[in-house]
Amino acid sequence: MRIERLVVASKNPDKIAEVEAVLSGLNLVGEIVRGLDWPDVEETEPTLVGNALLKATAVAEATGLPALADDTGLEVDALGGAPGVHTARFAGPEATYADNVDRLLRELDGVTDRSARFRTAVALVDGSGAITAEGFVEGLITDERRGTGGFGYDPVFEVSGLTFSEMGGEKHRISHRARALQALAKKLADFER
Ligand code: IMP
Repeated sequence: MRIERLVVASKNPDKIAEVEAVLSGLNLVGEIVRGLDWPDVEETEPTLVGNALLKATAVAEATGLPALADDTGLEVDALGGAPGVHTARFAGPEATYADNVDRLLRELDGVTDRSARFRTAVALVDGSGAITAEGFVEGLITDERRGTGGFGYDPVFEVSGLTFSEMGGEKHRISHRARALQALAKKLADFER
């Protein structure tokens, strides 16, 4: 199934750019409609999928167009799976990317188990209903920042020897977000059979 017109339900330009980059390789969407506005949506649900549905539903209602939302969490094994659903506010309600990475590196100072995963839930909502999918990628938290690309925790999240910030376009093929969108595309294709 192809979605003729779609709004990406996010106000984060970094996330929008990545969703668009992944979608461009999936033949899922005709036109991505940009430049619309909607009231801020508070992420009040206890799960990633709940928050993705909350955002997509609100934006579909506000714009009258199918809306695609993504909610992402970083699960660090040595921290018992934290920050998880609280990843955006790890260092406090107004935390910047840099504040969050600083807190993560501080919490893992001297910790040998660096294993972690990024997990993304995506939700697509339109007038006829909702569909959700999930993707994750396993990695390691580095001891210090490396690389210049990406956003958020990318400088300290390493997969196969490179941080997401060191990767460039490869991130769009293997990331949590790419895998969630690939799973969503597959679900939509399966509906047609
Ligand atoms: P949210 O999905 O907008 O709630 O994002 C959760 C947090 O994870 C924010 O602090 C983002 O900056 C961070 N984040 C989301 N996606 C990525 C990513 O692909 N790489 C690195 N950090 C990310």
